[in-house]
Amino acid sequence: MHHNKGFGTRCIHAGQQPDPTTGAIMTPVYQTSTYVQESPGVIKDDYDYARSANPTRKALEANLASLEGGRYGLAFASGLAALAACIHLMQSGDHVLLCDDVYGGTFRSFDKVFKQFGVSFDRVDMTDLNELEASFTSKTKMVWLETPTNPLLKIIDIRAVSEIAKRKGAIVGVDNTFASPVLQNPLALGADIVLHSCTKYIGGHSDVIGGALIANDDEIAERLKFLQNAVGAVMAPWDAFLLLRSTKTLHVRLDRHCKNAAKIAQYLAQQPQVGAVIYPGREDHPQHAIAKKQMHGGFGGMITATLKGGLPAARAFLERVKLFSLAESLGGVESLIEHPAIMTHASIDKHLREAIGIGDGLVRFSVGIEDVDDLIEDVAEALAAVN
Ligand code: PLP
Repeated sequence: MHHNKGFGTRCIHAGQQPDPTTGAIMTPVYQTSTYVQESPGVIKDDYDYARSANPTRKALEANLASLEGGRYGLAFASGLAALAACIHLMQSGDHVLLCDDVYGGTFRSFDKVFKQFGVSFDRVDMTDLNELEASFTSKTKMVWLETPTNPLLKIIDIRAVSEIAKRKGAIVGVDNTFASPVLQNPLALGADIVLHSCTKYIGGHSDVIGGALIANDDEIAERLKFLQNAVGAVMAPWDAFLLLRSTKTLHVRLDRHCKNAAKIAQYLAQQPQVGAVIYPGREDHPQHAIAKKQMHGGFGGMITATLKGGLPAARAFLERVKLFSLAESLGGVESLIEHPAIMTHASIDKHLREAIGIGDGLVRFSVGIEDVDDLIEDVAEALAAVN
């Protein structure tokens, strides 16, 4: 239902009907662990046990599937739980290609959890398609990427990567957390699986940890659904309810995130204390043309900028901002700011971190939906303390 409607309409309605017992317009929180059977094995739909199926979770799953233009959605306890289900598609001996500045927790899952079961991986700069192509081995079964990447906001050409992967017999998973379903839909560009950390833009209010997978292929979706139940990291019904509430405003929130971020990026670029400003919507972004081709409606709420004064300048700036809260995470209505080298990306060896471009002067902004003039004033006051 609603698949042929506009994006905003689907945000609000997809996956949801008035509750069959009362007509309640909002999908209730079905806080139950099991379902009563009339006779052994006689169940309503697929409701036999709530790890396998829950109506609140199912409504969210259908909603997210619709927003990504996919046929199947699955909700998990966290983004990393959703990732684990994808890696469980692999077998011992299989090889995976990861984009080089992949989220630290994703890297950790591959490096510290799944490697010991014989799933190997390599990291490649996927903005270089020749390098990507040369990195495949006869064992490569999956390509895993984020775009925009974190924190360098590199843009990877999803369509081009998917074409190469298909030719090589590998599936493609895209972590679409930074773009959100409003701005980018990887399935339509040839990807096989989309992942979201619902903790970020989908939730949008910094109050839920959750994850989701969306797929179109029957076989992949069936296998992932099996893993969701068999491994068991399902999303709780209350979290699904909160996220259904969140997605009703997803399109409106993202519109403001993008507008605010574009203005702040422009402001930052004019300040003498600031070096490079990385924002995919700027013409000086190295992959701006690809961003324009594969994103729509804006370029996201994330900005990365380098303070010329290095760590002392970054520290002074981050200690002084007031409206921007110094915190990890992103995608909420409130503006956050962080220092990747010391905070989110500290687990990456300093040498490697600097080699891929995460220097000590680098600051990452998650621009919220406050009044942009107030945000700029906050940045200006904090920058005034920086040489
Ligand atoms: N993917 C990206 C791009 C992220 O930024 C995060 C979390 O920061 C995750 C995945 C993991 O999601 P979660 O924290 O919901 O497990």
